[in-house]
Amino acid sequence: MTSERQAQVDLEAIRHNVRRISEIVSPAQLMAVVKADGYGHGMVPVAKAAVEAGASWIGVARVSEALTLRSAGVEVPLLAWLHTPHTDFAAAVEAGIDLGVSGWELDHIVAAARECQRPARVHLKIDTGLGRNGSPVELWDSLVGEALEYQDEGLLRVVGLFSHLAVADEPQRDETDLQLERFREAVALAEDAGVDAEVRHLANTPAIFSRPDTHFDLVRAGVGIYGLSPFQGQTSEELGLRPAMTLKTFVAHCKRVPAGQGVSYGLNYRTPQPSTLALIPLGYGDGVPRVATGGPVRIADQVYSVVGRIAMDQMVVDLGAQLPTGETLLGEEAVLFGAAENGDPSVDLWAAAAGTINYEVVTRIAPSVQRVYLNETPPEQSSQQGAE
Ligand SMILES: *Cc1c(COP(=O)(O)O)cnc(C)c1O
Repeated sequence: MTSERQAQVDLEAIRHNVRRISEIVSPAQLMAVVKADGYGHGMVPVAKAAVEAGASWIGVARVSEALTLRSAGVEVPLLAWLHTPHTDFAAAVEAGIDLGVSGWELDHIVAAARECQRPARVHLKIDTGLGRNGSPVELWDSLVGEALEYQDEGLLRVVGLFSHLAVADEPQRDETDLQLERFREAVALAEDAGVDAEVRHLANTPAIFSRPDTHFDLVRAGVGIYGLSPFQGQTSEELGLRPAMTLKTFVAHCKRVPAGQGVSYGLNYRTPQPSTLALIPLGYGDGVPRVATGGPVRIADQVYSVVGRIAMDQMVVDLGAQLPTGETLLGEEAVLFGAAENGDPSVDLWAAAAGTINYEVVTRIAPSVQRVYLNETPPEQSSQQGAE
């Protein structure tokens, strides 16, 4: 049965985006970042599609996410970088999960490695300017030294060195140069001290496109693998990306109204002329931002705007004219966002209407909206199966 409200996720679009980014960064490798349930797209299906398309690493924020991926059969290296003293490091070491280390984690991880009698795999993180996680520059020397001592004892292996960028989505800003310089210095210091890391990594999606000098051995691609642009004023299509998620439902009610009809709570909107209103059964309970009045909805071949307040389960679009008597859009498909190639509005328009970024719009689509996967089997494989 067709789901009444669905976030359709095209896994072939994910594969396309992974291949596109891999081409750009080659010979550097690609880590597909699937935190926050794959930016709302579904962590496990996205991770599997990314690996099918050549991602050789998967990245998440939390160990719990990495454990879920391992249990689901994802076998490539998995990196988790955001921990608390309550994180289950022993489970992570047991499952062979790579751990980001900014400082305090090191002793906890070593204790876990002793417990499991198995060396931990760590990536040392330096704060080059973002001011979140990462070792302060002044403490880097001692973090590297401690990690090397533990490595000599066979308790861990320093697999990676990394940092995270703050303003790569604004390529004209010069702070990225400073971060890059600090990262190079940190890598040089670690290597001089004897670290022989497999991967040095710094770039996120914006840096993948705007700063080839940040690619090093591995890039961490998040929003780009979902086909979304990290830049203001640059579309997915201009970057060669295909948006993977389409959010859609069906028109729940359609009626002719006179001029002056008030719409939704507060009656903030009144029809300027005799018109037709269509009711769209998605609201802030489904993760559509309440403030996004004016957001686009495509019905048949026309794009209309949401008028009045967005409610918990529903919102209204004004068709702008009275439909002839007897004509109705009841039951028609209504698409909030999707790919331009299908004529759908972009996520970016919803982000603009909500005063936020496309990352947040897709990530917040609620679990109450069913995820429906297209192209779960890569096309080559499905045609082979068809030929048998
Ligand atoms: C989320 C995240 C990324 C991915 O960022 P995008 O801009 O979505 O590509 C990369 N690295 C770290 C440390 C992150 O937290």
